[in-house]
Amino acid sequence: MSGRIRRTFELLLCVTAVVGILTGCVSTNSSTTDSSKDMSKTMSNGKIAVPDVSRDTLTLPAASDTKVKDEAIKTPDSSKDKTSEEKDEVIGGSLVNPSKYIPDPGARIKIVLDAGHGGVHSGASSDGINEQDINLRVALYCRNYLVTHYSDVAVYLTRNNDRELDPTLRVDLEERANIAERANADSLISIHFNASEDHDQSGAVVYVSKSDNVHEESALLGEEILKKLEDLGIGNNGIKTRDSNDLMDSNGNPYDYYAINRHCAKRDIPGIIVEHAFMDNADDRCFIDSEEDLIAIAEADALGIAAHYELTLY
Ligand SMILES: [Zn+2]
Repeated sequence: MSGRIRRTFELLLCVTAVVGILTGCVSTNSSTTDSSKDMSKTMSNGKIAVPDVSRDTLTLPAASDTKVKDEAIKTPDSSKDKTSEEKDEVIGGSLVNPSKYIPDPGARIKIVLDAGHGGVHSGASSDGINEQDINLRVALYCRNYLVTHYSDVAVYLTRNNDRELDPTLRVDLEERANIAERANADSLISIHFNASEDHDQSGAVVYVSKSDNVHEESALLGEEILKKLEDLGIGNNGIKTRDSNDLMDSNGNPYDYYAINRHCAKRDIPGIIVEHAFMDNADDRCFIDSEEDLIAIAEADALGIAAHYELTLY
């Protein structure tokens, strides 16, 4: 671990005052389903190839774009002058040289990676790390890993730079589910990092909807991702659901607390929230305090997704 965690955390929990529209990031008392302890796979240590992307991935392409996608994947290291548009997508000056990757809507599996928060909607912040930034880095690394390793997956992003989808949080969150619906996505994976008031909690957790139409599929996907994070040494706190405090159906049963879970379930899409680690905890901090750490986390996510969907390697 590099850098000592100071006790002067500027902790800004990714909580808003609006109950029931949160995306995650706060540890809660929730029902838990233990994940299995399968440790059979080890992480590969290879660098994630950075494809050459210049297109806004929010735009859903026509099927005829498939050829462009294939060409981009075969030339992930092509270097060329960056346009101003591409520079906008470079994060932290080094991470992402976004490629010309264009998701193929005809792919067998379609995934939406949702980098939590962004723009005016700040996430947690702790000791110099801002959640919305590392969420985006992990989402981009994960996308890049998936599309350069597997032939039968299309990956869409809800955002590819530091921006909100809508100034109003409620609308912003629902729009993330709308993107998944427009992409006809098999699932949406919302990428987050956690924080706790006393800085004493650690480990990864995945929040899923309790709705019958998506719960099982969500939990299975989440468990695969948690296994891969566990391979990195991150604690596995399992699959959880969380009830809304005030949003009830006509029978008085609470809806899902988290908007991503709720809105995706309403669209028959498994929408899971992966809280990868606690940013403000000394034990977890060592998993996120370097670029290599974030790449490893992104790769774990990608391997979990690949395992669940049995993606085909190139
Ligand atoms: Zn968050």
